[in-house]
Amino acid sequence: MIKINCPICLKKPTRSKYSNSVVKKSGFFYRSSDRKSVQRYYCSQCKKHFSSATAGDCFKQKKRHMNSKIARLLVGVVSLRESARILKINRKTVARKLIFMGRKAELDLKKFNAKFPKAKHVVFDDLETFEHTKCKPVSIGLMVEEETRRILGYNVARMPAKGLLAKISVAKYGKRVDERPKKRTELFTYLNSLVEEESIIKSDECPYYFKYIIRHFPKAGHIKFKGRASSIVGQGELKKVGFDPLFAINHTCATLRARTCRLIRRTWCTTKKPEMLNLHLAIVCLHHNLNLKKLNQSLAAG
Ligand SMILES: [Zn+2]
Repeated sequence: MIKINCPICLKKPTRSKYSNSVVKKSGFFYRSSDRKSVQRYYCSQCKKHFSSATAGDCFKQKKRHMNSKIARLLVGVVSLRESARILKINRKTVARKLIFMGRKAELDLKKFNAKFPKAKHVVFDDLETFEHTKCKPVSIGLMVEEETRRILGYNVARMPAKGLLAKISVAKYGKRVDERPKKRTELFTYLNSLVEEESIIKSDECPYYFKYIIRHFPKAGHIKFKGRASSIVGQGELKKVGFDPLFAINHTCATLRARTCRLIRRTWCTTKKPEMLNLHLAIVCLHHNLNLKKLNQSLAAG
């Protein structure tokens, strides 16, 4: 008896009157993209055929063998167009794969973080970038575990331009919504499940963080540090001082900038939609977490 559920009528394998099983094997088909022969089945309940690929993640994908290659290039400072040129595929394929792999990475990142005990020492900061033009800035909230530099959570929020660009931005593109309060609440609500109540949260002196930390982590200690001058080599994130108390987050931000083509300072690549930046970040953050030596050693040791 075949122990496969029919994905169409969702029937569990039961014995029918005439044969042993409702689901029967029914030949093979050859999948040229990864050179595999795939088993087909027939369900006598709903009288339909399906295969072992029907319920898979990559169902109906023609270039499934490109998925991991594209994700690997996107965490290695290669732009979407350049990845298309390297892999000799259309750039629209790369854009589609970014969405697919990004959504998968989002889920995998959540699963990965759920494996660890709740974090006790964490650091929080914002990273700023823009969509299309510097007149449309975007803020990325990021929380990192201090000892291991594991990324606990992040999200992307639109924000209005500040400083000299504020006036030009309003004149050219109209008033821009500030999504930061809403997104910070979302992020901190999610982080409640990953960070201990009586933890120690470190951040810079930004006055806005205080409100969210008090609301979501009332028992936690909040330590603020003065902002320091940044160095060019560290993507404007690493500091010029000898000892940096916020090293964990600054180093992670610098890594993210150096790994993601669109986040490099003075780059030609830009984000067109914050939603895509969000998916690209999911892939980079998952890659970052999976490659932390200290963290993965502790996981292997149990
Ligand atoms: Zn069926």
